[in-house]
Amino acid sequence: MSAGILESVLTCPHCNFVEQETMPTDACQFYYECSRCKTMLRPKPGDCCVFCSFGSVPCPPIQQQRGCCG
Ligand SMILES: [Zn+2]
Repeated sequence: MSAGILESVLTCPHCNFVEQETMPTDACQFYYECSRCKTMLRPKPGDCCVFCSFGSVPCPPIQQQRGCCG
């Protein structure tokens, strides 16, 4: 099965630190700690996970338009 793109580049909204992360295919990642400023990122309202809010690519369930978390 195709899981879509699994590599996403997260940009910290506080310090603009950019980091490439591999997304889980079967779960949403709700929290992400910036490795530079140690800010705990959470999704913006309406987004399901930190990758949808801060990543370069939406999370796999969104890519496949099947939704997640709900
Ligand atoms: Zn940061």
